[in-house]
Amino acid sequence: LLPPFGYEPRPYTGPLADQVLEKRKRFLGPSLFYYYQKPLNIVEGKMQYLFDESGRRYLDAFAGIVTVSCGHCHPDVLDAIMEQSKLLQHATTIYLHHAIADFAEALASKMPGNLKVVYFVNSGTEANELAMLMARLYSGNLGMIALRNAYHGGSAGTIGLTALNTWKYSIPQGEIHHVVNPDPYHGIFGSDASRYAKDVQDHIDFGTSGKVAGFVAETIQGVGGAVELAPGYLKQVYDIVRKAGGVCIADEVQTGFGRTGSHYWGFETQGVIPDIVTMAKGIGNGLPLGAVVTTPEIANVMAQKIQFNTFGGNPVCSAGGHAVLRVLDKEKRQAHSADVGSHLLGRLRALQERHDIIGDVRGRGLMVGIELVTDRKEKTPAKAETALLFEKLRELGVLVGKGGLNGNVFRIKPPMCFTKDDADFLVDALDYAMSKL
Ligand code: PMP
Repeated sequence: LLPPFGYEPRPYTGPLADQVLEKRKRFLGPSLFYYYQKPLNIVEGKMQYLFDESGRRYLDAFAGIVTVSCGHCHPDVLDAIMEQSKLLQHATTIYLHHAIADFAEALASKMPGNLKVVYFVNSGTEANELAMLMARLYSGNLGMIALRNAYHGGSAGTIGLTALNTWKYSIPQGEIHHVVNPDPYHGIFGSDASRYAKDVQDHIDFGTSGKVAGFVAETIQGVGGAVELAPGYLKQVYDIVRKAGGVCIADEVQTGFGRTGSHYWGFETQGVIPDIVTMAKGIGNGLPLGAVVTTPEIANVMAQKIQFNTFGGNPVCSAGGHAVLRVLDKEKRQAHSADVGSHLLGRLRALQERHDIIGDVRGRGLMVGIELVTDRKEKTPAKAETALLFEKLRELGVLVGKGGLNGNVFRIKPPMCFTKDDADFLVDALDYAMSKL
């Protein structure tokens, strides 16, 4: 049984899953796959739990794709949204609005070094688009370097940075060079950061004029399956890229706001300070909000033209995002992520000793990956088994994410109010499901 929660969802009288699915198929554009064989009709959320149409409760270990940072419908965030909505929903950058300026100040106070200039946008994709534009304008070069196995967005520009063929279309990708991924589990150089960094230098030496616009990487790869970069990698690569005239961009869309537990930002786990940081998802607890934070020098290039975004950081999103920062601090969610995350990792590693199908357990804080293989030595993806386990977990009341090129990595990235009891329930459910395979 799920840990007790003491919250009753409202009686639901809306359309049922089959009706919603029918409309979705007719009116919402086709997609390669739906997450579950029988899609889940979610009607209510409270903190780390979701409720379906029948009132059944599920432990949400994926947080709406790593987005619900404080918890579903967190009361403080809701209050801030409601209060601002009643006064003014929309301002645009042609007027002043204190909610936007206050939020920018609060966000800048969370950044190290000279990273003090904030641009608000509406999503992670948009944030990375703007970051790439800034890098190209600032450096005067075109070539961008990104990691294989990366996900940075699905727009015409950022899809070039993304390097997972599940997401890419055959369209012109622009000047993008994808370097060998410094992945300690799958990577050809193990955890040897220098050899991976050498590949970046080789790309610059042999694939460009010797100058690049920039380098972008998630500090722990999210969609790619919670892959931590080899220790020391970013330090070496940032040096190489800066020598080639490029700027260094950290994509913190999944890793920011204390999710890694050990640090507020993922880049701190590698001991670097980027030139541009992009963020979204957890910043708004579900509001459509993203941001780019950079230095005054880089921001200066944007002054050449009108910098304009109709919705970016509108008053409601700003008030909500500002409340998110306050909640995460007040509830000490970073320390909580570290504590619950290490408990979860410990239990998963013990589970790995009993189930051969678990090839790798990795991650930090509440950003955890479990890679499933049919052969530990060959690391053969356990595709069919992953699909079965995924459905079984849902049956048991646990929702997780899937990731990696072969979809054989379970991604555990719950709202940061997730407790040790929740972690125990998840591990026990996984244990049970695996023993029934
Ligand atoms: N960067 C990373 C690391 C992401 O995980 C995602 C979304 N999965 C994006 C960028 C794009 O964000 P959005 O879906 O908000 O456009």
